[in-house]
Amino acid sequence: MVTSEWGAIYKELGATPVINATGSVTLLGGSTPVQEVKEAMDAADSAYIPLIHLQEAAGKVVADAAGVPAAYFTSGAGSALTLVTAAMMAGDDDDRIQQLPDTTGMKDEILIQKRQRYWYDRCLQLAGAKLVEYGTDEGTTEQDLIDAIGPQTVAAHFYAHEQDPADPNILSLEKIIEIAHDKGIYVTVDAAGQIFPLENFGKYVRMGADFQCIAAKYMGAPHSTGLALGTEELIHKISLQSFTGYETRRIRGVGRPQKMDRQEIIGVVAAVKRWFSINHEDRLAQAERMSGELAAPLRDVPGVTIEMNQNIIGHQPFGVFVSVDPEVTGKSNQDVVDALREYEPAIWTRVPDGGDRITLHVFGLDEGQPEIVGNAIRDVVTR
Ligand SMILES: *Cc1c(COP(=O)(O)O)cnc(C)c1O
Repeated sequence: MVTSEWGAIYKELGATPVINATGSVTLLGGSTPVQEVKEAMDAADSAYIPLIHLQEAAGKVVADAAGVPAAYFTSGAGSALTLVTAAMMAGDDDDRIQQLPDTTGMKDEILIQKRQRYWYDRCLQLAGAKLVEYGTDEGTTEQDLIDAIGPQTVAAHFYAHEQDPADPNILSLEKIIEIAHDKGIYVTVDAAGQIFPLENFGKYVRMGADFQCIAAKYMGAPHSTGLALGTEELIHKISLQSFTGYETRRIRGVGRPQKMDRQEIIGVVAAVKRWFSINHEDRLAQAERMSGELAAPLRDVPGVTIEMNQNIIGHQPFGVFVSVDPEVTGKSNQDVVDALREYEPAIWTRVPDGGDRITLHVFGLDEGQPEIVGNAIRDVVTR
């Protein structure tokens, strides 16, 4: 609901709070930690703890839950991507760890399919690694990968996005693992949002990848947290790169600026435990109901087409696609998005890059807000 307390802490500062109908996006704050996580984080305040031990003990709990050999806590999935590149390039050589991001003398090339370039692949470069494309805009063959692997290649990276229909023109992760391991290079996977169905949580490492990341913002942990899952070997090497290693070992790795609270680590553990124990049918039913509430005021509005999003894979199930006909309404989809940002209360929505419809998610909405959003859209369109 939008009560007088809603967003008061922001308004006091002269900043304008918004209703988030976009979903889990970093520009709006990504997530609201759930109650179980907040309680666990509060309990973590009661003592200090050597973080290197906490990482190990808590990592074991998460690794067991995910069914993978080892896990490490990072300041977001983006940090996990950066740390793993450093780990693969420098290994456990302390001189190399302290030399990065200068990669002289190290294997420093990471292969990525041309068709799989994506927004967060920049995180793979920050420790000094170079991205090398293979395949073409049309597709990738096994031979493309074999030809691309050279003396400087350290890994092949894959972007897992099972919410979308599988791209038939890319080289599959199975093939990449087979070829890469045959040639002695690592395989890394960005699986930031691949947390549902539950068997997908950690699946890529179980398939044989050496590493995958998960964004904990997607499961009720603080927005600033993430997970690296992987082999014992690679997770150990990641630990050498982290801020914890920097301070505990007095070896200055590139991970120092990407630090976390002990409370955040505890929060991620609580979020993972919760994720593996909640009733996901209830979670999905709630998202579906809220999506219906959002769409209800938009049915029968002339010039407005709605379609219910039926996806349940990943972190934000259901939602609504909305499209307005400029001929009938005098407005484009982007006009509606812009007008909603000026609405009272301000409502953030978006037409995703490369998309042609307003894509709404209930991930960031509280009870009562879907109806507010639906009514506001109707108001803006018909005004
Ligand atoms: C959100 C996201 C990231 C970045 O994760 P952070 O936890 O925000 O650093 C990386 N890759 C994908 C696919 C994401 O969705």
